[in-house]
Amino acid sequence: MTEFEVVNPATEEVIEKVAMADLAETDAAIARAKTAFESWRRVSPADRARLLRAFATAVDAEREQLAQLEVANAGHTIGNARWEAGNARDVIEYYAAAPERLFGRQIPVAGGIDLTFQEPLGVVGIIVPWNFPMPIAAWGLAPALAAGNTVVLKPAELTPLTALRLAELALQAGIPEGVLQVLPGHGPVVGRRFVTHPDVRKVVFTGSTRVGKEIAAGCAEQVKAVTLELGGKSANIVFADADLAKAAATAPYAVFDNAGQDCCARSRILVQQSVFEEFLTLLEPAVLGVKVGDPRDEATEMGPLISAAQHARVSSYLDGASVHLQGSVPDGKGFWFPPTVLAPVDQHSRVFTEEIFGPVVTVVPFTDEADALRIANTTEYGLSGSIWTRDLGRALRVARGVEAGNLSVNSHSSVRYTTPFGGFKQSGLGRELGPDALNAFTETKNVFISTEE
Ligand code: NAD
Repeated sequence: MTEFEVVNPATEEVIEKVAMADLAETDAAIARAKTAFESWRRVSPADRARLLRAFATAVDAEREQLAQLEVANAGHTIGNARWEAGNARDVIEYYAAAPERLFGRQIPVAGGIDLTFQEPLGVVGIIVPWNFPMPIAAWGLAPALAAGNTVVLKPAELTPLTALRLAELALQAGIPEGVLQVLPGHGPVVGRRFVTHPDVRKVVFTGSTRVGKEIAAGCAEQVKAVTLELGGKSANIVFADADLAKAAATAPYAVFDNAGQDCCARSRILVQQSVFEEFLTLLEPAVLGVKVGDPRDEATEMGPLISAAQHARVSSYLDGASVHLQGSVPDGKGFWFPPTVLAPVDQHSRVFTEEIFGPVVTVVPFTDEADALRIANTTEYGLSGSIWTRDLGRALRVARGVEAGNLSVNSHSSVRYTTPFGGFKQSGLGRELGPDALNAFTETKNVFISTEE
């Protein structure tokens, strides 16, 4: 067994050493999950619902500790971390209502009765990235458990602490041993085993598009179900008729939140030519006003990047780029990177086409609606986006025209646990959250019962 040093990205101190599972331990956990499935699937819908509600209550009681743990492990601002712990609670509570509403259908047929059942799949493997460890874990595990599956979950190497605590809270709430197991480990070892092990019947992967393609190819070998939530390079489209002051004041938070390590980051701002200079002028104080610093401080709006490696990766994008504006960062230890605005930008350059996953935004002009859509859709990604205009017809036309799964008009919201979330094109496959998430964790079974004498 190897150990992994978990580092606080704001101080560079080692805060914990976590044992990493090897292949044999992964196989043993999958075997336990398979055994637990036989009894968990038979727990009555009302009891499964009660256990999930108890789990949500346990998470609620520990919200502050979970948030503090995420601040230390991932450098998230305390405000964000509190929202994330609350989101994990809400998602578990929301899907606690699902076991008692997992309806099949009765379909009219000749000669008998036809029924459909939503059957659980078995063991579900969930692979989580480091950027939002708690919410992304909850978005997978809550509907999976509600549908009657058991779960093995691998947190990212860098951020295992809150997921480990969530598994303890599930046990404390009465969810039986083996139903939810968290296995810290390396992606190519534990994560890969979820793909290759025949007893894992579905893989939910959130992470980079590069690894997501490997996961999908591996799952194809066994025709294994897979949900992919991958990268993004989303557009924030600002028309001349928009509330420019509001669009400019909010644009930094739509990309610099979580230090830009957000798959939904609106990292390409597209501004109508006639107001381009005015928008850049309004953007300046908004960017310089982003408070970067100690994530434990409630006034802080942006913390550090997750690691030295991520810092080096983000920094590499600035080589040869034209920096229009840059905020400031604290002195001393920590993987700090200033909020950065790049302009002018060549639309074929790396900074405009690749996901930087740091606090770097590009701003480009467009001429009209068609040009805005052309630029917004010239990307392999399609996760989210924003449209700023006072013209409702245009807002809807552009929202329908952007090839992305989550769009917001005159705002930057993408994620609500009650609504579906996921990507077009190379941003993913399938949807999480919302009322239909259980479909992704069940198989439909059709049963015909003859009524002939
Ligand atoms: P990553 O792909 O490197 O790792 C994600 C997870 O996969 C980690 O747990 C890692 O250990 C595991 N992994 C790595 N190699 C593996 C392999 N060969 N087999 C199985 N598992 C493996 O991504 P990351 O750097 O942790 O996260 C950043 C990426 O995640 C960004 O591209 C971001 O856009 C994306 N992301 C997407 C969403 C979304 O919902 N669409 C949400 C958050 C993050």
